[in-house]
Amino acid sequence: MQNAPSPRSPVGTPSAARAEPPPNTGEDRLIRAVLKHLLVPVSLKPLAADIERALGKPTHEAGRQQLADQLIHLMVESKAHAERRQAELQEFLKATVGRLAQLETALGQVHHVHRLAGEDALQARQITEAQFVQMRSVSTETDDLDQLKSFIGERLDHLQDHLRQQDNASDTQQRRLEERLGQLSLQVAQLSCETITLRSRLDVTTEEALRDPLTGAFNRLAYDRRAALEVARWRSDGGNLSMIVCDIDHFKRINDTFGHTAGDKVLKEVVRLLQEQLRSSDFVARYGGEEFVVLLNGAAEEAALQIAEKLRRTIKSAPFRSRGERVPVTISCGVGTFSGEDTLELVFERADAALYAAKAQGRDRCIHSSGKAA
Ligand code: GH3
Ligand code: MG
Ligand code: MG
Repeated sequence: MQNAPSPRSPVGTPSAARAEPPPNTGEDRLIRAVLKHLLVPVSLKPLAADIERALGKPTHEAGRQQLADQLIHLMVESKAHAERRQAELQEFLKATVGRLAQLETALGQVHHVHRLAGEDALQARQITEAQFVQMRSVSTETDDLDQLKSFIGERLDHLQDHLRQQDNASDTQQRRLEERLGQLSLQVAQLSCETITLRSRLDVTTEEALRDPLTGAFNRLAYDRRAALEVARWRSDGGNLSMIVCDIDHFKRINDTFGHTAGDKVLKEVVRLLQEQLRSSDFVARYGGEEFVVLLNGAAEEAALQIAEKLRRTIKSAPFRSRGERVPVTISCGVGTFSGEDTLELVFERADAALYAAKAQGRDRCIHSSGKAA
């Protein structure tokens, strides 16, 4: 790569037995100073040593000229060598900066994406920092490029190995986490499925608890709840609220005449007819045996009495039959309307008293607690 000067014949060696010229001491001093400050590459060290040796010795003109040529050659080659090394160093530093930037990104990913456990992250950071500190101190202290190169190369390899290990560890950790998450979400799905089943069963149970099994009508418990709600609403919003208490007339006689099963059929049919006649905002419940309570939301005294009358007529005109025989069914109704400081119990008592009056007056009739009859 470098062209060494062709003649490296010993400079200043006595080649002839001519008269020795006087040594050029001023020139030699200058050459010595140049050699001292010149950064001579290893390959040119022998030439520098030859020049050094020739100094201080008496030399002929031709010898001095050769010494000057060799010195110029040494200086030019040393300069070229230094420039090449500098370019190499710049290239190497550029590549190192690039690798460091990549490492930094990778480190960030390892720490961030995989969310290392506190201890692992701390350890990784400490190792990385230590490697960087070492690199920084060595790169400022040493001027030997080869040593610097190999040192930094080793550190970078070490860091990369460490990162790879961390990556693998994080991958395993991540996989375990994902597996666990998968199991957990499966369990959650199963649990929510069970919850839905349980909830619908509970809904059915609750619904069953509020229904009369024979007729399917709401029962006494449902009545208590709904009545409390209706009364609370009436108290806060005002408006009208009435109640009908109705009872099948001589039901015992129906049972006795047509049998208990026929009596059951009558009960079911009465419920169906009552529900059919009422609006969806009204409420009907089987209060007991053959007695029903109707809540009429929005109905004042007169309207409630008319509705009761409509119910009575509907039942009376319905074609109840048992074994081909007509079964005469009628109901009596007592009606009550909420006003002032009324409570549910008070209105119920008044409606029940009106029903008693209707029974007493011959049944198959409707009477309001105010005394008004339909
Ligand atoms: P009143 O006109 O005064 O109301 O006379 P009633 O016979 O209807 O009244 P009473 O209280 O004397 O008789 C009610 C009967 O209703 C007695 C009971 O056996 C019958 N009963 C109660 N629950 C059921 C039931 O679920 N099915 C049947 N078939 N009968 C029932
Ligand atoms: Mg009865
Ligand atoms: Mg009764």
